[in-house]
This record gives sequence, structure tokens and C-alpha cells, in this order.
Amino acid sequence: MMLKIKENPTATAEIMGNGKYGNIRGRVDFYDTYGGTVMVAELYGIPKELEDKSNGFYGFHIHEGNSCTGNERDTFADAGMHYNPGNKAHPGHAGDLPPLISNGGVIWAAVYTGRFYPEDVVGRTVVLHERADDFRSQSSGDSGEKIACGEIVEWEADSESRASLSDGQGE
Ligand SMILES: [Zn+2]
Repeated sequence: MMLKIKENPTATAEIMGNGKYGNIRGRVDFYDTYGGTVMVAELYGIPKELEDKSNGFYGFHIHEGNSCTGNERDTFADAGMHYNPGNKAHPGHAGDLPPLISNGGVIWAAVYTGRFYPEDVVGRTVVLHERADDFRSQSSGDSGEKIACGEIVEWEADSESRASLSDGQGE
């Protein structure tokens, strides 16, 4: 799987924070792997106040909606509920993932899941929440506000140039 992530991913999502957490940015890449997907997340700009409040852990899920849009109350309302084609209870949703941890405002994580392939989630969204998923509460683990979101798109050659541009703005 380490060799896989030296190749181009199958799909990618550019992550943007909501109005309150506008400095959050980064990307999540999706690599087609035997039996599922390796996801690599790299995010910057997590504010210290939030890191203190959440002890550095954030719920992380694939949501079924196709758009990081919403309304005044919930910036990313249109991301919808957790991706759940099997109609199971949380944390049995296909889109349920381990929480992410931030360190000095930075997140880097890789996770392997056999619950979907990258092509299954193209056209859906990946969402970071303000606190950790409790892996019990229904219907979504009580992880609070959606603070950052990315629309999952097929990887294209120009994804790479976009990615290196946003890397340049990192730190
Ligand atoms: Zn769930």
C-alpha cells in the first residue's frame, strides 16, 4: 500500500473550511487498492482554539451528498448524511472512518478501508467535524458542526498542478 501512494490517486477532494474556520485547507486523495481504498489526508490551518477544545480529534466521514454548499446555519448542509448504501446504523456506515488528529494545526493521516472503492465515492463529499466521533450516538456519532468539506472528484492530470499550488500555500 505504501507503493500505491507513490502513484496518482483515482480520486481527490480539495478541502475548504467553513466561514468560521476559513483557514482550514488541504486535500484528501483516494487510491484504488486491493479490496478497497487507501485515503491520504493532508490538512492545514486548524486553529489552536479548536485544537484545544477538541483535544485535537475530529470526526471524519464520507457523506452521501454531492456538494459542499448549505445555508447560514450549516455551511455544508448539502453534504447530507453519512454515506450509507448498506442502510446500517452508525458506525457501520460505509462512509465511517477513524477520527483525524491535528498537531500544531496540521493533520496528516492515511487510512485503509474495505467499505468502498474510490469510484463509489466520486460525486460525494468528505467532511471534517468539530469534535471526535463517539462511535455510538445515532445517526452520526455526535461529532458536531461540519467544519471543513471537500467534493470528491475523479483525478485528472490537472489535479496535480492544482495540488502543488495549494501545497505552496501550506504552513
Ligand atoms: Zn456514520
